[in-house]
Amino acid sequence: MRTLYVKFIVITTGMMLISFLFAFLISNTYYHQKIKPYNDQKNTNVALNIAAFANEHPDNNLGVYLENISEVGYQLYLVDSLGNEHYFGEPFRDKSLPASTKERVLNGQVFHGILHFPRETFVTGFFFNELRNSIGVPLKHNGVDYALFLRPDIKFLFGEMHVLFGWILLLAISLSILMVLINTRYLIKPISTLTKATKSLANGHYNVELASKRNDELGQLSESFLQMAKKLEQMDDMRKEFISNISHDIQSPLSNIKGYTNLLDDDSIKKEDRIQYVSIINSEIRRLSSLTKQLLLLASLDRNEDVMQKKWFKVGKQIKGLIHNYQWAINEKGLMLSYSLPDIEIMGDPAFLATVWDNLLSNGIKYNVPNGSMEISIEERGNSVFVKFVDTGLGMSGKEVDRIFERFYRADTSRTRSIEGTGLGLSIVSSIVKLHNGVITVKSNEKQGSTFIVELPVK
Ligand code: ADP
Repeated sequence: MRTLYVKFIVITTGMMLISFLFAFLISNTYYHQKIKPYNDQKNTNVALNIAAFANEHPDNNLGVYLENISEVGYQLYLVDSLGNEHYFGEPFRDKSLPASTKERVLNGQVFHGILHFPRETFVTGFFFNELRNSIGVPLKHNGVDYALFLRPDIKFLFGEMHVLFGWILLLAISLSILMVLINTRYLIKPISTLTKATKSLANGHYNVELASKRNDELGQLSESFLQMAKKLEQMDDMRKEFISNISHDIQSPLSNIKGYTNLLDDDSIKKEDRIQYVSIINSEIRRLSSLTKQLLLLASLDRNEDVMQKKWFKVGKQIKGLIHNYQWAINEKGLMLSYSLPDIEIMGDPAFLATVWDNLLSNGIKYNVPNGSMEISIEERGNSVFVKFVDTGLGMSGKEVDRIFERFYRADTSRTRSIEGTGLGLSIVSSIVKLHNGVITVKSNEKQGSTFIVELPVK
């Protein structure tokens, strides 16, 4: 935070200084181009008027007259042909002036020192309090030839108004620097709060608080950060729940297997009990095996789309094959199965989609009532195919429907609990459908039955 704060201040003040420098260079160029010739002309006129007045009034004391002129804001230098020099007003910092210049003015020429003063990049000619930076005019008084050199006194140019403007400028600069200091602190504060929050998030504390009411980009950043923290917390919760579910689902069949193998150890148990125990052990092993298979499948689906090997295949034919596999279970439960499965070809991964139909079909059988019915149909509409599984089984409540695609979720009714399952089937179904850019919808009513519709793009 410190470095960003310092950087910001340095850059802003640097920018202010650079702007000031540019402004000065531009106005200095303007002075040399426009103001300097105008200034030279103005002062030449003043000097000529003074000389003319002195010439026309030989009775006036020249020294007193020039002293009065100096008091209204001029620095004057008077020299005669004999080299007698007089200064009036503020002294010149540099009094050097070539003898030839004086000579020429004494001979009647006008000297334009202000106009021809050498150009300096960083100092405006105004400020050079030098004799060379003046206007020289010939002056005749009482028959004596003089050369009069004149320049405006800089002190008079900087009158009260100028001092006032000077103060305004100084105050404006100081106040802007102060405001930059305060404002930068205000700007940087949310970033440092965010950094603190990131650190606490990295340490696993998801309950970060960022009281930012700003509507700018930093406010949006804080908002997104909070959303991210919430998502991470949810994912962390899901991960913990997932692990505890897996541990539970692996642990319970294992302890069942252990318990029944201990019982089998006893030589005195009856044959029919032995048969029953072995069958329970087998069923628990099947459960474990199906759980690990489903977990492996979920893990590969989680990775990304690359796991898919898409090709054209006939969905109807595939579902008919599956129905054939489940015929014994359908007969055992006395279910009435009807289907309409036209030969529609779609582009997809046949192995993954077989898992989808397998889950929906086996659920329709598992969660059905004895002598219930099932209906499976495929329909092509526009660029999609709709595969529908309707059963007249146990059905689900609205709340249960909302959660059936969650991993390990099983509707917790006494009826479904007695049915074998892992709670992973439908989450696998939903992942596969999503990978195919499809949609799955469910309608269900308790004790009446459920309808699962899978919509898939044809290609
Ligand atoms: P499993 O069948 O292994 O429990 P699933 O993910 O396939 O897991 O299903 C999740 C839950 O959704 C099931 O436990 C069951 O409660 C409910 N369910 C799924 N299909 C049906 C259906 N056709 N009729 C009634 N309930 C269903």
